[in-house]
Order: sequence, then structure tokens, then C-alpha cells
Amino acid sequence: MLITLTEAARRIKATNKILITAHVQPDGDAIGSTLALMQMLRALGKSAQIFIDDTVRKNLHMLPSFEEIRRPKPDEKFDADLMVVLDTSLDRIGNARKLTDAPIVNIDHHVTNKGEGVDLYVETKAAATCEIIFKLAAELDATITPEIATCLYTGLATDTGFFQFSNTRAETLAAASELIKLGVSPHFISEQLEKKSLAEVRGLSAALNSLKMFYGDKVAGMILDHATAKTFDSTEGFIDEIRVIETVDVAFLLTEKAPNVCRVSMRSKGVNVAQIADKLGGGGHVRAAGCTLKMPLDEAEKILVAAIGEAVDN
Ligand code: 5GP
Ligand code: MN
Repeated sequence: MLITLTEAARRIKATNKILITAHVQPDGDAIGSTLALMQMLRALGKSAQIFIDDTVRKNLHMLPSFEEIRRPKPDEKFDADLMVVLDTSLDRIGNARKLTDAPIVNIDHHVTNKGEGVDLYVETKAAATCEIIFKLAAELDATITPEIATCLYTGLATDTGFFQFSNTRAETLAAASELIKLGVSPHFISEQLEKKSLAEVRGLSAALNSLKMFYGDKVAGMILDHATAKTFDSTEGFIDEIRVIETVDVAFLLTEKAPNVCRVSMRSKGVNVAQIADKLGGGGHVRAAGCTLKMPLDEAEKILVAAIGEAVDN
């Protein structure tokens, strides 16, 4: 059921033991929004705990209270009277789903989130879930400390490609401006987030070497097999290097994470890649989406390229 942000705030205010989670393969928005909400709720005297069922990219470990994030053990239970799921639908939270049977409030900005079986506040025009949590702070009468501001700004910055992508709107910049007034240091966050290990830069080089063009150069793809992919831990930003090719509408990165587990990232300048990802069992936004294809790499490539081809021809 769709709910308003005020209703989401009311549900949160009415409870005391709150479990917060977000999607696997967490990005700056997932980590930033959960950390910001946890700190707000604790300051309001509530018990709040984040569980994320994945490892987190090293660049985000600098965020305030990062050390508080826990990873659920396979059959772990957690005593909570509300679960708040941020930045995703429930199918991408891994074992966090099994921690509690408490009611769920889901807050998200993904167009593919249909809110099946949960109370969902979804604002697809919000650039980031952090933009929504910024508004939620006012509804909760929560104080935005410099630490909370740092977490929220990180989500705004990462989901908008540092305020460059088409999801950047006046409200995004207004929120960012307010967060800077509250104590955020934008250059500190940028410097932390742009850091890459040597292995990652070598990985980027391997990815660029794998570049393939399709459909009259309208589609660009990079393919990383498992032997290459396992030598570094993040492909964050790789796809942006080929998205810029002037003839390209859709860019993709296909990474063989493990044998028969292939991760797909897509970016577009017009084509609705959320729809393509949705068809392949994933989701996302019109211009940035992804999915996982559980099959051998060469088969995944064929299926992906065919699915993109249908959309590009349309
Ligand atoms: P990325 O390419 O950066 O991993 O993801 C791009 C966007 O698509 C993000 O908003 C991300 O949350 C979403 N996304 C990526 N993979 C999946 C997936 O497997 N399922 C869903 N529902 N969304 C995804
Ligand atoms: Mn997001």
C-alpha cells in the first residue's frame, strides 16, 4: 500500500525498536540514508540498528557511525517492532528479510518498486533516498547534526554523480545547500569517494580493453570475466567511462561475479533501462538500472544484448 511521508513518520514515531536495512551491493545512498536515519532515531531516544547483508565498499567506511552497521547471520533473529527498508524493494535485502516479522515501512525512490505487501512511500522524482530522509527529519522533529548531514550529503552526491545526472533537481541542490550550512565538507566527501585502489584502476583498464560496440554504435558494453573481476572489489564508476561515447545511448557493464552469477549495470541517455532490467528480474531508474543474470557469461551477454537491442530499436 502506498503511504505518505507523514504517515511513514507517524509509524516510525509510534515505535521504539527499529531495525533499518537497505539493498545488497550497497551504494552511498543506501549506506548514507540508513546511517542518517539510525542516528536521528537514536537521538530521539529510540533503539535503532542497521543490518545490511553485504560487505560495503571501503570508501564509505569513513561515514559517521559506519562501525555500527551489522551483517545478519544466516538464521539470526532481531527483536524489533518496526523494520524500515530504505532505497530498495524487499527483494534486494538478502537475509535482513528474515531478521524479524515486525511490520515494514519501505521508503524508496526507485520507479520499479511496486511496494508489494508493504507500506511504501516512494518518490521517484527524488534524486536519492537521502533526499527523502532529509525531508523525513523535519517530519520527525529530528536534529540534523554535522554527522547526519555528512551521511545525507553522501547519498545525494553519489546518486546524482555529484549533481550532474538528470535526477538532480532544485530540491536536491536546496537540500545539499542546507546540509553544507549544517556542517558538511563537500571536498572531504568527494576526496574520500573518488579514491580507488591500484587493483581497481588496473581493473578499469581491463574493462576498457573489453569494450564492444553494438547496434550501429548506439550501445557500448564492457565484459569482465570472473578471473579478472576477482582481482578487485568494486567496479563503481567504470560504466561512466563508456557512457560518454558520443554515439552511445545505452552503456552496460557485465561482470561475472562468480561462475554463473553475472551482474549487469546499465546507463542510458534516453532509453528506459529500468524496463529492460525489470524484464530481466532486476530494476532501477529510467537512466540507471541493473540486474543479476544467473547463467554463464556468454549466455548472459547474448540475452542482455538482445534485450537492449529490442529497446534501442523501439
Ligand atoms: P548500479 O548499476 O549502480 O549497480 O545500479 C543502478 C541502479 O539500479 C541503482 O539505483 C540500483 O539500486 C538499481 N539496481 C541495480 N541492480 C538492481 C537489481 O538487481 N534489482 C533492482 N531492483 N535494482 C537494481
Ligand atoms: Mn538510491
